[in-house]
Amino acid sequence: MSNAAMIHPSIDAGIKPAAAGFAGGKLYCKCAKDKVEVTIGAQTAHNHACGCSKCWKPAGALFSQVAVVSRDKVQVTAHPEKLKIVDSSAAIQRHACTGCGVHMFGRIENKAHPFYGLDFVHTELSDSSGWSPPEFAAFVSSIIETGTDPAQMPAVRGRLKQLGLEPYDCLSPALMDAISTHVAKSRKAA
Ligand SMILES: [Zn+2]
Ligand SMILES: [Zn+2]
Repeated sequence: MSNAAMIHPSIDAGIKPAAAGFAGGKLYCKCAKDKVEVTIGAQTAHNHACGCSKCWKPAGALFSQVAVVSRDKVQVTAHPEKLKIVDSSAAIQRHACTGCGVHMFGRIENKAHPFYGLDFVHTELSDSSGWSPPEFAAFVSSIIETGTDPAQMPAVRGRLKQLGLEPYDCLSPALMDAISTHVAKSRKAA
């Protein structure tokens, strides 16, 4: 890989563990003033590096870093007027700042979706430390769609493993199992 430092700026230097008893904090967009502020009232879960083309990534990063938290713990506490949904037809509606482009949270409005009730957030936007650390890398092959040379993939996967993030080309087995369990239950109910 030509630039081994760019999996993600919050991951490249090594992963910090969660703080015991950590109960949330605030996320801020990258505008110089009138920042959008989102207050999260809980620790996050299932944090991971994501290679899909829809998640917001910092400049130069190959992956986003994204975690989930219960939607009732997510509140926009400053400048909600700056937020706009990137694609209202997407399963995850990403609320982005119209000033700086940062995605402040992603929300699922379809009650039948396996992850309904969870919002997707980028905890690197917080000034607090102690958030749940990334545990794996999802949609790794998808970085090819946004321009990574396929020849670099063995190096990218090697680097992820070195960082302790098992690379998957979809979600992790635990989350894929959760999706399939939801599908099986909804078939029985139908
Ligand atoms: Zn902004
Ligand atoms: Zn993604």
